[in-house]
Amino acid sequence: MSNSKVVIIGGGVSGLTAAWELTRRGHEVMLLERRDVLGGLARSTRLNGKFMEVYYHFICGGDRHLIELVDELGLADKLHWQPGLTSYFVGDRLYPFSTAGDLLRFSPISMLSRIRLGLHGLRCRRMTDWQQIEHLTAEDWLVASVGSEAYEVVWKPLLEVKFGRYYQRISAPWIWHRLHRFSRSRRSALRPERFGYLQGGSHTLLMALSDEIAAQGGVIRTGLEATSLAFAGEQIAGVRTTEGYLEADAVVAAVPLPELVTMLPTDSPYRHELAAIDFSNVGCVRLALRRCLTDSFWVNINSPRVPFNGLVEYSNLNPWRDYGGSEILYVPFYLHPDDQRWQWSEAHFIEATIAGLNVVEPEFDESWVVEATVSRDWYAQAICPPHFSKQIPTLHAPVRGLFVLDSTQLYPADRNLSGMIGLARSLARMMGEDDGAPSPRLHPHTAAKRK
Ligand SMILES: Cc1cc2nc3c(=O)[nH]c(=O)nc-3n(C[C@H](O)[C@H](O)[C@H](O)COP(=O)(O)OP(=O)(O)OC[C@H]3O[C@@H](n4cnc5c(N)ncnc54)[C@H](O)[C@@H]3O)c2cc1C
Repeated sequence: MSNSKVVIIGGGVSGLTAAWELTRRGHEVMLLERRDVLGGLARSTRLNGKFMEVYYHFICGGDRHLIELVDELGLADKLHWQPGLTSYFVGDRLYPFSTAGDLLRFSPISMLSRIRLGLHGLRCRRMTDWQQIEHLTAEDWLVASVGSEAYEVVWKPLLEVKFGRYYQRISAPWIWHRLHRFSRSRRSALRPERFGYLQGGSHTLLMALSDEIAAQGGVIRTGLEATSLAFAGEQIAGVRTTEGYLEADAVVAAVPLPELVTMLPTDSPYRHELAAIDFSNVGCVRLALRRCLTDSFWVNINSPRVPFNGLVEYSNLNPWRDYGGSEILYVPFYLHPDDQRWQWSEAHFIEATIAGLNVVEPEFDESWVVEATVSRDWYAQAICPPHFSKQIPTLHAPVRGLFVLDSTQLYPADRNLSGMIGLARSLARMMGEDDGAPSPRLHPHTAAKRK
């Protein structure tokens, strides 16, 4: 395909990266974003006149697609690396959990369990053949590997952070990959992991991308929603939007799968295939505080008195204190749409967060809070059961000219910015190479390897 008219639906990092790559290859690109701001899950709002992400974002040492893109966009001097301390709040105490020494001193579990946890971490670092555990749930695999005690105290809360009441459905490879990815941010077991952040947050990257797209002649329309796809026989023909019809030779759907489902004809088998994948939503409280609560970047929480399973003290990673002196703390609530907490009002989310933080740090009270915001997104996290790799959609949909970018395609990796950048770049290369016809079951991993 060359010099085609391409409509990209979705102005998150994947849609923007695809738009940049395709404009550079000479395509006529129009990107549609429903919101008034770009960025999707990596979007920002203003705090004290500066942009601050609505959800925390950190970068791991192995995030090579993001690091390469940052370099290509001339932003390398804005990427900083910093040790990020982790701790666990168990019962009523905070325990450091960043190094091998911290693990050996982690008294909520027996010495035998601590040793099993450590050995399992080392095995995961070396292991690459995740297919051998695809039939297992994370719970079964972890209990067999580290024992029930370490699972209950250490791993279960982590799974609950992401999957709420559906944590028992999650596949073993998903949790394996998370361990594997994080271990690549660690230089030695004696030192904490190092994480990266961009000065100005993801906003810095997203704005540089949108400037480049405009400079190459691409068009970005915010506040414009795609409502359905139009087909001519087996070929994509265009996109219907809230402001009319757009003709297209190719369409890239860079939106969560359930959004794509609503754009497909109701009798399409492809629609039914995609609709079988279940997602959780996310609600996240972002607090600007007068002071930090802990010295950790990441705090896992295992306490019946705290109504959430983790908190992220972003200021302990990114010391770039240009938010009017405030310290930034996030508390995520991943909630399935059938969880009644998803219906909570903003005030309710903030109240529950403040009450929970007061348990973690009894000195903390409302007077520490300078500003509180609540952000919500539908379909933020796919629920990936055993054998999930057989369910995920390919980059090229089974319709001529329709392409799909979605975080599920990163499996067994969790959603992440770098992975989506890598997929978007693979897709643009693939669109340049082929004639627009669907390549039967071309798996995203295969496409990435064809680089
Ligand atoms: C709480 C949280 C923390 C995270 N932390 C990290 C982290 O630390 N590190 C990391 O690498 N990743 C992190 N992520 C993941 C990262 O944010 C995502 O992987 C990435 O932003 C996904 O980008 P995307 O472009 O694929 O999709 P999205 O960001 O979901 O973008 C899709 C876009 O499509 C738009 N859209 C939807 N429907 C339509 C329509 N009909 N018409 C027009 N537009 C439409 C949406 O408004 C949205 O802007 C985190 C995510 C969350 C929720």
